[in-house]
Amino acid sequence: MPDTVAGAFGLIERDHGLVWHPYAPLDGPRPYAVDSAEGIRLSLTASSGETFEAIDAMSSWWCAVHGYRHRSLDAAAHAQIDMFSHVMFGGLTHAPAVRLAERLTAMAPGPMAHVFFADSGSVSVEVAVKLSLQYQAARRRPGRQRILTVRGGYHGDTFVAMSVCDPVDGMHASFGSILPRQVFAPRPPQARLVEQPGGATTWEVDDHELDVWADVMRASAAEHADEVAAIVVEPILQGAGGMRAYHPDCLRVLREIADEHDLLLVLDEIATGFGRTGRLFAADWADVAPDVLCVGKALTGGYLSLAAVLTTGEVGSLITGSQHRSLLHGPTFMANPLACSVANASLDLVEASWQASVGSISTLLRHHLQAARTIDGVVDVRVLGAVGVVELAEPVDVAVATRTALEHGVWIRPFRNLIYTMPPYVCEPDDVAAIAQAMVHACAACAA
Ligand SMILES: *Cc1c(COP(=O)(O)O)cnc(C)c1O
Repeated sequence: MPDTVAGAFGLIERDHGLVWHPYAPLDGPRPYAVDSAEGIRLSLTASSGETFEAIDAMSSWWCAVHGYRHRSLDAAAHAQIDMFSHVMFGGLTHAPAVRLAERLTAMAPGPMAHVFFADSGSVSVEVAVKLSLQYQAARRRPGRQRILTVRGGYHGDTFVAMSVCDPVDGMHASFGSILPRQVFAPRPPQARLVEQPGGATTWEVDDHELDVWADVMRASAAEHADEVAAIVVEPILQGAGGMRAYHPDCLRVLREIADEHDLLLVLDEIATGFGRTGRLFAADWADVAPDVLCVGKALTGGYLSLAAVLTTGEVGSLITGSQHRSLLHGPTFMANPLACSVANASLDLVEASWQASVGSISTLLRHHLQAARTIDGVVDVRVLGAVGVVELAEPVDVAVATRTALEHGVWIRPFRNLIYTMPPYVCEPDDVAAIAQAMVHACAACAA
């Protein structure tokens, strides 16, 4: 493939009408071509032929937390390629998978004892739901086949994962009766993490709203307990459903409800895991231990698609003691060795530096995004960990916002009425400032 500007331009035309892009029509706006990626920067060519150097403020949809071409991730991939890139996992095992499973169970919130490797986040949610149904069947409650969740969630695009997404945002109406009907409770009231002088943080929420929500949640669980297998939620931060945080007490309420009715608590940490929210796992904000945990996205530092479902010894032994004895799933590329090797290298980096990096990015985002508050049309600015969000009153013109940010050296991909960043952890203070400024310019351009 030619790597010249003209080559990239030809590429965009060949792409157009041939390849579908996520949630985009075949005749939609032309994408930018990636000429190269290094550190936190993308080199892009537009369909007009213009070129841009841009900080990737999206971490490639929240996964490239260490940036591109990271030496130790590259080295891990090369070393594994020189041994074997893939082997089947049926009847075989390998060091990268075992090591990764040991590390994930050790670092996860709660006493996790078993790991199932899946090939994407959505598939891990499917597996978590299968696991929950098999668990209930093993407890001789086969009638418990629905999922209790809250509105405003996002859990992936496959059918069962989609059925747990917010019914409106998830476009359930487009798919009719093939989608299982889940039980939806209201979304938890929005909370925000406030930084006190001196750096300590406290959660702020309307206590009354929280109490009302908890009562509704409890009532909903009580009403449906005999048909529900599990509660599935994103802990603390709802991501693609609106980048909104909720109070750790809400998660504690969900844990109580799950215990009371013997439901599994499935926490989807695909977006929040590995430090993003300012805790290693978002569940750590509430000191809540899940029964089932899904991780993905940043697991491989954004190099390869890999996800994992973790569960407790108790759930594991019930499955083993049940009719089928196994978890009924087994993808072709299960525990892909390349992906597991890179994930191990990524966890080394996460463990060494997530806390300092995310802490400093958080403080800088809080400071630099203040400027957005004065722009007409901006209704909220919020920061949680290394997540910075500017909410506008109206839906964002994605083309205008993207273009404006690129002119200021930053790649963003807004959705709905949100201009946000989830930057790579390796951003320097100047990079974070540049991201925030570009976001502010993008907001102004959309408001104009
Ligand atoms: C992205 C995401 C998923 C889906 O992961 P894919 O790898 O895109 O299938 C599921 N849950 C959450 C919370 C996510 O952010």
